[in-house]
Amino acid sequence: MSSNPSKITGGCHCGAIRYEATEPPKQTGTCHCRTCKKSTGSAFMVIAGFSLNVFRFTKGEPKRYRSAPIMEKGFCSNCGSLLYDRYLVRVREVTSPDVIWVQLGTLDNPEPYTIDFHYSVETQLPWVHFDDDARRMRCDEDPEMAAAFEAAETGVDYSALQEIELAIDRGRV
Ligand SMILES: [Zn+2]
Ligand SMILES: [Zn+2]
Repeated sequence: MSSNPSKITGGCHCGAIRYEATEPPKQTGTCHCRTCKKSTGSAFMVIAGFSLNVFRFTKGEPKRYRSAPIMEKGFCSNCGSLLYDRYLVRVREVTSPDVIWVQLGTLDNPEPYTIDFHYSVETQLPWVHFDDDARRMRCDEDPEMAAAFEAAETGVDYSALQEIELAIDRGRV
C-alpha cells in the first residue's frame, strides 16, 4: 500500500487487487439502473470517474465482464468485489473509454468525496432519498446514451479499444 498522501488508493475486499490514482476523480455519482442494482447487489451504485492516464492497478488484475454492448465491469475473481465500470465507446466526455468509473466504496478513503450526479433516477427505489443538490438525470431521457446503445447493436468500431486496454495493462505492476 502506498504511503504517498498525494495518491488515492483502493482495492477489493480480499486485497488481491489494488489500484491507485494520482489525481482526484473528474466526477462522482450514483446510478439506479437495473444493471447497477444487479451487479452491486444493492439499491444503487456509487462511482468515481478517474482519467485512465492518472489511474493504474498496482496489484492483481480484475476479471472483466461485458455488462452491456458498450460497457464492461471489472471485479475481483477471488472475493467478488466489483471494482469498476467502463464505457467501451465514447458517449460524452466522462462517459468514454478513457475514464474508469471506480466503485467509490473500494477507495481506502472515500470520505472526502461528495456526489455530483444521480443517474437513472426513474428507477430509483422509492425509499432512497438524497438531501443534496446534485444533478438528477433520467436514463430514459438521454438521447446520446440511447444512440450509443443503438449503434452498438448495429456494429461499432472497436479499433481504438485495444490501445486503451493495452494502456491499462502497461499500468500493471
Ligand atoms: Zn478480492
Ligand atoms: Zn447503472
